[in-house]
Amino acid sequence: MDIQLQQVSYAYAKGTPFEKQALHEVDLTIKSGTFQAIIGHTGSGKSTILLHFNGLLKPSSGTVKIGDRIIEAGKKAKDLKTVRQKVGIVFQFPEHQLFEETVLKDIMFGPMNFGVSEEEAEKRARELISLVGLPEEILDKSPFDLSGGQMRRVAIAGVLAMDPEVIVLDEPTAGLDPRGQKEIMDLFYTLHKERGLTTILVTHSMEDAARYADSVAIMHEGRCVLTGDPRTIFSDRQTLAQFRLEPPRIVRFQHQVEKMMGKTLAKVCLTEEE
Ligand code: ADP
Repeated sequence: MDIQLQQVSYAYAKGTPFEKQALHEVDLTIKSGTFQAIIGHTGSGKSTILLHFNGLLKPSSGTVKIGDRIIEAGKKAKDLKTVRQKVGIVFQFPEHQLFEETVLKDIMFGPMNFGVSEEEAEKRARELISLVGLPEEILDKSPFDLSGGQMRRVAIAGVLAMDPEVIVLDEPTAGLDPRGQKEIMDLFYTLHKERGLTTILVTHSMEDAARYADSVAIMHEGRCVLTGDPRTIFSDRQTLAQFRLEPPRIVRFQHQVEKMMGKTLAKVCLTEEE
């Protein structure tokens, strides 16, 4: 399922003295099956754009196409429920949204709310818990008895239980230690590859964007100023500096590594260190 933003503008508190134009005529196409990173300085519009990917925000002008659904300014959007099932958002600190008595009930909540049978929802929960790297016994525990990293995995399983085609990640590694960060990003990368999930990653981490993405979009002052493959984007230090972005430290491009079947490790030599 492709996602396409055409000339999307968005203003918060439109028509009030507090009006804030957060997006300006953004054009961005995310092809089905790609891993798209969105980077940009704080306040550049990343979170605002993210909320357009499943209709949580409607453009003030322009059009958002999500598969064959169209959300456009001034028109009532049809079938948003389907859009929200197909596009799952993992918000920052998703563990804050856990609330059920047990992990099992928490994972089952979303799909059951969308009309999936109890039996099917439980089946999904049991499959997903191991997929996110947790033991099945955890399903009977209270989510609040788990560690932070475990809670985050449970919250991710809850989003996956909706069986989305697209997953949108808002700073998914925030607050984790470096090892936890790598584990969570490797998990998303594996899900992307094995389940064919279109993945949209909003991140401050240039390293994660370089390492995992097929395509990188730079947001700057509410505009999508540049898109391209990570190798090209991150090799151009001058452009990065223009948008107040630091180039990543040395990275390997995982997908390129895979393409080369492990024979040669591709890397961008941005610093001397290894
Ligand atoms: P980013 O995620 O890149 O930090 P945001 O999308 O959060 O950027 O913000 C883009 C602009 O919109 C910023 O100037 C921000 O201050 C403003 N903004 C964000 N949320 C709101 C809001 N709820 N009300 C008013 N302005 C907002």
